[in-house]
Amino acid sequence: MKLDAPTLVTVTIFVMVVMGGLYLLSWSQARRTLALGFLGAAQIVGAAAVVLFGLRGHIPDWISIGFANAAMLLAFGLIWAGARSFEGRRVTGWQTGAGAALWLAACLVPPFYASLGARVILASAVAGLYCALAARTLWHHRGERLPSRAPAAILLASEGLMAWARIPATLVLPAPLVGTPTDPFWVAVLCFIALLYTVAVAVLFMAMAKERLEAEQRHAAETDPLTGIANRRALAGEARRILAAGPAALLLFDLDHFKRVNDTFGHAVGDAVLVGFCAAARQVLPVGAAFGRLGGEEFACLLPGAGPGVAASIAETVRHAVAGMRPDIVPGLAVTVSVGVARSLGVARSLGVAKSAGDTASGDFEALLALADRALYEAKAQGRDRVVVAGPGLRQVA
Ligand code: GH3
Ligand code: MG
Ligand code: MG
Repeated sequence: MKLDAPTLVTVTIFVMVVMGGLYLLSWSQARRTLALGFLGAAQIVGAAAVVLFGLRGHIPDWISIGFANAAMLLAFGLIWAGARSFEGRRVTGWQTGAGAALWLAACLVPPFYASLGARVILASAVAGLYCALAARTLWHHRGERLPSRAPAAILLASEGLMAWARIPATLVLPAPLVGTPTDPFWVAVLCFIALLYTVAVAVLFMAMAKERLEAEQRHAAETDPLTGIANRRALAGEARRILAAGPAALLLFDLDHFKRVNDTFGHAVGDAVLVGFCAAARQVLPVGAAFGRLGGEEFACLLPGAGPGVAASIAETVRHAVAGMRPDIVPGLAVTVSVGVARSLGVARSLGVAKSAGDTASGDFEALLALADRALYEAKAQGRDRVVVAGPGLRQVA
């Protein structure tokens, strides 16, 4: 196959400009994701560098060597800035442009400018460093699980290693192999590598931005905006999983005389009390408990595997913690909660097991909720600030 160097270089430039344009278009639609702007700029500046490299011999060397490499290093700096910005880290202009500035300063030193080896070593060291730093930034934030994060970090790390590999190569290989190649075969190899990285990095970064947006939307759809805990939809989903796996207990909480709190102190105080209730409950609920807001001043908690005794004692602990709450917003305001407790035997265990008055035999969350609601109603009827367990005769705990 005959490879035409100018055609390959033109295709590379074209792909980089298109990718840069796509980044900038995505950025214009999601202005908050500034990283897309940095990465778009990186592609455009990188394309400009390839144009200048490609004009080697047709334009003065100080442009095709000096400014071309400076543009290339600025493009790598922008990729690092993109990775930092994506992770919410501070981006400074001097960090982004330091590599290019260092290169231009070195070019002003005649012995450096005259040495092909020295130029290749500096450019490769700086480009590799930016890639390694970008890979490290992405890897460092892997706590936020995005499927495309690891491939992006690995890709950038491998790009950095390839750049660094040119340094020992420069020291051992003859000069024509390490400079800007003119042999169409090597031009093709370089163009294919540049295209591969350009397309792969662009696809992975755009995928990460999309994955983050989806995760944020999923979180928003499942979270109660006031208290930050699971909303009814999320709790119901979690409950279905827990109930399908085995026996569980449900605690149904309802703040006492909450309307009075609103009417006396205002809605803002009511909101603060709801937030305070969640904080107090979360502090004492066991790990593995699924806690959520059903709506208004009603909350529920699924306790996987808990028997009636354990469930009642946990409910009592929450009731006690709430009774001890002293909201800063209104000193002296007493908050209490009533709790209804019910138990499900789980889908697997329920088969062939006789249904008792305090248990639901199925893994149906709504049925369990109805049962706990009856116990809660009883707790309210008995004077509030107490725990009642659903069962034969609805047993009051406190
Ligand atoms: P009980 O002891 O019988 O439960 O009486 P209660 O006053 O707590 O019950 P009721 O159902 O009459 O009142 C609940 C109140 O909760 C009414 C509603 O305005 C208030 N509420 C619901 N959601 C919110 C909210 O997000 N913020 C605030 N501040 N109040 C809310
Ligand atoms: Mg209520
Ligand atoms: Mg209430």
